[in-house]
Amino acid sequence: FHYTTDQDTIAAQATAPGRGGVGIIRLSGPNSLAIAKHIIGFEPKPRYAHYVPFKQADGEQLDMGLAIYFPGPNSFTGEDVFELQGHGGPVIMDMLLSHCLSLGARLARPGEFSERAFMNDKMDLTQAEAIADLIDSTSEQAAKCALRSLQGAFSKRVDELVEALIHLRIYVEAAIDFPEEEIDFIGDGKVASELKDIQTKLTDVLKEANQGALIREGMNVVIAGRPNAGKSSLLNALSGKESAIVTNIEGTTRDVLREHIHLDGMPLHIIDTAGLRDSPDEVERIGIQRAWDEIQKADRILMMVDSQSIDSKDPNEIWPEFMAKLGNQNAITVIRNKVDLTTDKIGLEEYQGVPVISLSAKTGDGIQHLTDHLKTVMGFDSTTEGGFIARRRHLEALNKANRFLAAGHEQLHGYGAGELLAEDLKEAQQALSEITGAFTSDDLLGRIFGSFCIGK
Ligand code: GDP
Ligand code: ZN
Repeated sequence: FHYTTDQDTIAAQATAPGRGGVGIIRLSGPNSLAIAKHIIGFEPKPRYAHYVPFKQADGEQLDMGLAIYFPGPNSFTGEDVFELQGHGGPVIMDMLLSHCLSLGARLARPGEFSERAFMNDKMDLTQAEAIADLIDSTSEQAAKCALRSLQGAFSKRVDELVEALIHLRIYVEAAIDFPEEEIDFIGDGKVASELKDIQTKLTDVLKEANQGALIREGMNVVIAGRPNAGKSSLLNALSGKESAIVTNIEGTTRDVLREHIHLDGMPLHIIDTAGLRDSPDEVERIGIQRAWDEIQKADRILMMVDSQSIDSKDPNEIWPEFMAKLGNQNAITVIRNKVDLTTDKIGLEEYQGVPVISLSAKTGDGIQHLTDHLKTVMGFDSTTEGGFIARRRHLEALNKANRFLAAGHEQLHGYGAGELLAEDLKEAQQALSEITGAFTSDDLLGRIFGSFCIGK
């Protein structure tokens, strides 16, 4: 444990600004106790709630409330922490905070309490991030996953992988360093099977992390289709609001519209695109370019057709130009709309590997099939219950580790190159260590904690 005695003492309001029943000023650092004694007039008992007046130097009372002292290392930050729980009015909070600053504390930077907790090994980086994610969560599901990450569910999985990699590296490097021992580590199946095992486990973690990131950040769904297919109507049906202008004049939806909704706790960012057609109009052309940018980044593309005018269920037949421009059709779901005007059967089917849903955006019939389908695509099922929250940064690190393992696998089986395998294993371990913060740059830490609010 590294106790940071050289640190200054920081202070901030820990509760949200504005009015509230209770407002908390939190202090952390070596001067916390001295400042505490000044304000309450005696040395507080550790981890004991004292109901006392908070006073200025001249004896004038600022507020009355609970004072709690947590001596380090058994505190949130690992340092001496002192909390004043007063009345939650902005003026009172300001007076208390100013008083703490006048007694030698410094105003905390955003996320500085969490940063100190990380620096003092009270938690790792994914746990610190989970605090922010828990506070910022927009659904019950996200909150539950963030709490699991905070309790170490994600870190544990990553640590297990790192442990396994270290074990394998020791074996491989010993074989390289002591060739006279004649360990034929390539011929002997141990290395191959351990590597395979780690790759499998990493793939599992990656899958769960993907889901965790989707729960945190939401799924980007694009509704694409020719003018009048019913895109705006579908957006309205899903969001339950009149957010897009529904008309039957071609080219009305000029801009990209973004709607955020939750389907049973699953966040969705739905993008209704401009009618994708060649247009002489400059404004419309810009809208169309933006629509294409969104489409390329989407997690799912709903290709919508008016089932009255188009019979096909094949995206390449429905809209060949679109498919040619898109390049891949893995993320496509065909939506056959306006079935209230045809004899088509409502529901989900599969046509040549592509999901096809027949519905009516106008009457709402079949919308449930679409919601269920989106949940399945997102992997949003009962297994999510035990999931953890994840960020893009985590996915990038996991993917990077995955690539190094694949390269190592290649070295082992293709060339029998022990040194190169050892190097790949090392790189993979380093990528994984970035997730929990065992190996990080100051730059990364600055970016992560800088995005927190003050007082966290
Ligand atoms: P967009 O151009 O693709 O956004 O299409 P809109 O949502 O603006 O719809 C075009 C027209 O089709 C409007 O008159 C809608 O009322 C109508 N419409 C959309 N969906 C349905 C549907 O499921 N059934 C029927 N009967 N009409 C629909
Ligand atoms: Zn959203």
